[in-house]
Amino acid sequence: MNQQDLFRALPSIDQVLKDDRTTPLLTDYGRESVALELKEQLGLLRRQIKENSQTTTRQQLTDRLFTATSDALADRFQPSLKQVHNLTGVILHTNLGRAPYPQNAIDAMVAVSRGASNLEFDLRTGKRGRRDAHVEQWICHLTGAEAATTVNNNAAAVLLVLNTLAEKKQVIVSRGELIEIGGSFRIPAIMKKASCKLREVGTTNRTHLSDYEAAIGKKTAALMKVHTSNYEINGFSHSVSASQLATLAESSQLPLIDDLGSGSLVDLTRFGLPPERTAAEAIAEGVDIITFSGDKLLGGPQCGIIAGRADLIKRIDRNPIKRAMRLDKVTLAALEAVLKLYTRPEQLQQQVPTLAMLSRQPDEIKITAERLATLMRPLMPASLELSVQPCESQIGSGALPTKTLPSFAVTIRPTVDQSDPARINRVEALAAAFRKLPVPIIGRIHDAAMWLDCRALTDPDHFRQILPSLKDALTRRL
Ligand SMILES: *Cc1c(COP(=O)(O)O)cnc(C)c1O
Repeated sequence: MNQQDLFRALPSIDQVLKDDRTTPLLTDYGRESVALELKEQLGLLRRQIKENSQTTTRQQLTDRLFTATSDALADRFQPSLKQVHNLTGVILHTNLGRAPYPQNAIDAMVAVSRGASNLEFDLRTGKRGRRDAHVEQWICHLTGAEAATTVNNNAAAVLLVLNTLAEKKQVIVSRGELIEIGGSFRIPAIMKKASCKLREVGTTNRTHLSDYEAAIGKKTAALMKVHTSNYEINGFSHSVSASQLATLAESSQLPLIDDLGSGSLVDLTRFGLPPERTAAEAIAEGVDIITFSGDKLLGGPQCGIIAGRADLIKRIDRNPIKRAMRLDKVTLAALEAVLKLYTRPEQLQQQVPTLAMLSRQPDEIKITAERLATLMRPLMPASLELSVQPCESQIGSGALPTKTLPSFAVTIRPTVDQSDPARINRVEALAAAFRKLPVPIIGRIHDAAMWLDCRALTDPDHFRQILPSLKDALTRRL
């Protein structure tokens, strides 16, 4: 057929819409989306005919149009937010959603999201209740605090606490603790947004109790300590302990706020991890208000936990901003479930996936890596070389920043000459192919190879289902 005939042979949108094969598409995506996509695909077909008119029939054209439309719709309607395999070696990866949830938290979320719940309803009295009541007693039990409340994340917790306790007043912070966390959380900026005035004391490496003492004045509303989550100051350095600051705060009748960052509810050394000050320790040292994240070392849902003196928590709860930061029922259900796990620390390692991953032994990870390598090796084209190698995992999210954990990775390396500049592009193409899988695999690129750190991979057999698409991706791309 010549080009003119081909154009004439193209079916109309109405004809395709009436085709039986379109019925399932109409059911899945609705008439409007199908018609829009058909229009788009007809345009593409016209362009293809113009550029390259091959011999074809009306039937073939209709088939092509139908397949292209169906594929495009499936692609467009697949979930945007979806599961991935985190083999980056960074366990609490903020971009990959931080902590995976314990099973009891997932069950609690499903149960509470299906219908109505007693979110703000006291089943005993039949009157209105507090949504934070579902978690408060557990937080108090685990931290020794008198009262507690929750918000959307730790950044919100810090903002809310500062705004409540120190609006239009000064908050004293050491220059060694003026942190920036990724994603523009900076203590000086948060102070400003909370309408507080930051009063910096000491120097970057050394701050003394006398620096805080000298700064206290009429306008001072609080003393604050901030966990230096993503860095350490070593060498000639000095900082003031929370208990020393607590004594000073008490004698000056000022609250002491401590942003614990990740925070932990248990002594992490029991899992072979480096020590991290626990929330209970901070409260015992005399801190008046602590704040910490739910989805860092705690291993639960994204939220910010505020705990401490009952009179201060009451003021924080009454701040109208709290309403804009409160947790939803699904998150509260997950948090309650996770907190309960912490009442039995001996089971934590099995039940909280974050702690399970962080405490996995290298020889066990090596076995996983070797099993994954065995599954993947038969899929490798000759242009790729696969091996199992030692590597270092990171905890991530600013928790225990200078500590890495020995681990093992499956590495995939293009078998080209190491001096070939194109080899980097090949590794990039490989990483892109892994990202395109139905359940994307996210690794890291290092030393002209793709590294799949197996610390977070508990069962390589999960990969069995994606092996066919993996084979497809590897051979098509490289
Ligand atoms: C991570 C962190 C925050 C922010 O917590 P999010 O839960 O991410 O909002 C605040 N302060 C410190 C010290 C942190 O480490």
